[in-house]
Amino acid sequence: MKKILSLVLALALIICCFAGCGAKKDTLTVYTEAGFAPYEFVYNNEIVGVDIEIVKAVAEKLGKELVVKDVKFDTIVGAVKSGKADIGAAGITINDERKEEVAFSIPYSSTEQYVIVKADNNTIVNLDNLKGIKIGIQNGTTSDFMIDGLIKDNTLAGSTIVPYDAPALAAAALGSKVEAVVTDKLTAQIIVDGSNGAYKTFKLVKADGSDAAEVEEYGICVSKENTELLKTINEVLQGLLDDGSVAKWEKEFNDKAATVTE
Ligand code: GLN
Repeated sequence: MKKILSLVLALALIICCFAGCGAKKDTLTVYTEAGFAPYEFVYNNEIVGVDIEIVKAVAEKLGKELVVKDVKFDTIVGAVKSGKADIGAAGITINDERKEEVAFSIPYSSTEQYVIVKADNNTIVNLDNLKGIKIGIQNGTTSDFMIDGLIKDNTLAGSTIVPYDAPALAAAALGSKVEAVVTDKLTAQIIVDGSNGAYKTFKLVKADGSDAAEVEEYGICVSKENTELLKTINEVLQGLLDDGSVAKWEKEFNDKAATVTE
């Protein structure tokens, strides 16, 4: 009886090990930050969005099971670099600093920096008006880096950055802990649409009306060693750009996100 029992246990152990190993080998792990509609956000308890559709298509092409992990935005590039995550997909702007750490796909979307203020705020209308105030941003984003640079070069003398884990959390502090929030265009518009008229948004411009920030482009990142995966991502992305899927998803998830109020 004892012998049979240990045989059964041993068999069970072997089966578990195989199943475990198999599952690990066949997954594609994607790190994202699900507070960034329309690219990734929670809808009916599920993480959805443009980036999620893109990585779904990549996983399908590779015949792998997709695992999406919701993490803090400023940890994504590091996790991809170290191999903890296979892919980072989070509306990540392609820039030189990040390119030192990871490899980026072809760009699939572009954005500009937008400011959100309370709807009744008539004093903040351009970059100069952000001087001397508290500005909310999502930690580790290009909005964070840009405002930090402007404080350091004295353009925004006396301003302070208040960091949040997500742009919507920064917006929720408008009028109490911060006077303005800076984030990417579509995300800003969705937050404003969902605020029932409490906030408004505008593109970040200088006092003379010229652009205050450069146009940014989003890319999907992988570790620099992962050239095969990057090749597949680029092939899939090019197809999705050519057949209009990315543009279609931007609209679809924009509309969907507008129905979710935080
Ligand atoms: N595009 C911005 C960046 O890369 C913000 C991305 C995000 O908040 N998900 O920093």
